[in-house]
Amino acid sequence: MLQLEDNEVDSRRYTTNSNSIQFGPWHISYDVSCILPSVCSTKVVCERDDDQFCQFCLYCKELQIPHFPDMVFPKNILRLSHTSGAVINFNPLDALRGVANTVEAIEVACAEAWQEARPDAEKKKRNFDWTFSTEYKGTLTENIVVEATNEEIDYNMLKQKEQILFYHDLTLFEDELHDHGISKLSVKIRVMPSCWYILMRYFLRVDDVLVRSHETRMFHVRDSSYVLREYTAKESLAKDLNIPTTHMKEADDVIPHLPVKSKNTEKLIINF
Ligand SMILES: [Zn+2]
Repeated sequence: MLQLEDNEVDSRRYTTNSNSIQFGPWHISYDVSCILPSVCSTKVVCERDDDQFCQFCLYCKELQIPHFPDMVFPKNILRLSHTSGAVINFNPLDALRGVANTVEAIEVACAEAWQEARPDAEKKKRNFDWTFSTEYKGTLTENIVVEATNEEIDYNMLKQKEQILFYHDLTLFEDELHDHGISKLSVKIRVMPSCWYILMRYFLRVDDVLVRSHETRMFHVRDSSYVLREYTAKESLAKDLNIPTTHMKEADDVIPHLPVKSKNTEKLIINF
């Protein structure tokens, strides 16, 4: 019994660092990391002129936004590498590149409250999308061809009771909007014997103001030469949602009630 418990601890320790699976020509892996520090950790290295930076300095250098989410997991990365050299990956740095430097008018009412709660934020630095909304759909290598398609993800196939060979849910970033709601980007993967399926979800709730979701789904059937990518953007003002506020807390509860703003499906063709 003792030995079994030891093994469980060990396997848990292992899966919190990284894990991978081979699926035909795909090598699927993820890494789990600790949180992005809020200051430079290696000034001596980062101030040298040799392009070596700590994670914090790399984020400062690469991103235009003056603040990062409260929690960024810089090395939480899901990666799917095909033997052809094609790679699909999901990472927080590329996701945050999509955050705008300007604030949309709709969020201003709450933005003022938020800014009052953060008196340390300099005035000139306030003008950015503090909801960290991003339309990130994953990062693709150049040898993947993206085409429009009418083909749909086969949800019936996903409903079948198949063995789950591999599963993980990774948070890429999260911010509680200074107790005014939540902004979170996460990605989860499920690998079954016949296919793999990914759901990356950006979820925003500005309490009593707005709820928004940007969902990217990827679906690949074993032995096919492409991946389907479905992107759905949904949004509603809180006052237009005919559900109690308590049902807006969890993404899974509220997203089904949100009206669709845009939806499109593409084929990601893997060149052999
Ligand atoms: Zn640094």
